[in-house]
Amino acid sequence: MSAIKTYRSVRQAFQSQPTIEGAGVRLRRAFGFRQPQLFDPFLLLDDFRSGAPEDFLRGFPWHPHRGIETITYVLDGDVEHADSLGNAGVISSGDVQWMTAGSGIIHQEMPKGDKRGRMDGFQLWANLPAKSKMTDPRYRGVTSGEIPAVKTPDGAVVRVVAGEVAGVKGPVHGVKIDPEYLDVSLKPGARFEHAVKPGHTVFAYVFEGEGYFGPDAKQAHGDGSLLLLGPGDTVLVRAESKPARFLLVSGKPLGEPIAWSGPIVMNTPEELRQAFEEFENGTFIKSGK
Ligand code: MN
Repeated sequence: MSAIKTYRSVRQAFQSQPTIEGAGVRLRRAFGFRQPQLFDPFLLLDDFRSGAPEDFLRGFPWHPHRGIETITYVLDGDVEHADSLGNAGVISSGDVQWMTAGSGIIHQEMPKGDKRGRMDGFQLWANLPAKSKMTDPRYRGVTSGEIPAVKTPDGAVVRVVAGEVAGVKGPVHGVKIDPEYLDVSLKPGARFEHAVKPGHTVFAYVFEGEGYFGPDAKQAHGDGSLLLLGPGDTVLVRAESKPARFLLVSGKPLGEPIAWSGPIVMNTPEELRQAFEEFENGTFIKSGK
């Protein structure tokens, strides 16, 4: 390790935008509208926090996926899911479902909210490398209790889904893009310094309070801010008068062509055409559990 740290600053800042998905779910999309290479190896981030059941109850009825992983992190409420392989269950408050679609699954995801009608969470799409796009599908259901919450000396509390903080590893590992997925909470005045791999894509998505990203940051970024961080080996975030809570995600870029249509992401238009043809003629599912 070099003795001199290079801090990542904000390269591009965005604000999540309202959109409609599934059977009419109103959510906010942080990225995934355009420029699919910008966040490589990640394709999309949806923020489905809402206190209004009419925003989310229509859900995401039966639909296919191929060539990607979908990572669903529920902060509050329940998401019921079922799939063509016979899996069925509930993703509840604090849980993560890391789903590798690989060669193909057909599933439904139905947000139900909590007793008060709140439904809070995120869905991230990660791309699969070309050589793994047709891998066997796999579900990893991670319950809230399996996700360690690490308290750092600088006053950060970090739920580690994937990756490592202060020597504590998250429960999800063995993913091709070598991801980190952290939920970081800072009290006012606290900071979080974290080593990241220099070549990896790193982004943050703020969902409570506001934070300052980078040692020289003068501008705070608040709720709904998506921050693509520039090069470096260290992330430094501080909270000043307000608390801050954000997702911090990194992964190894694939640098491969992207052919994307709806829920299917392949490398070539021919592979996309074949996927939709197979979905139409009933040969889409290649592998069981
Ligand atoms: Mn889906």
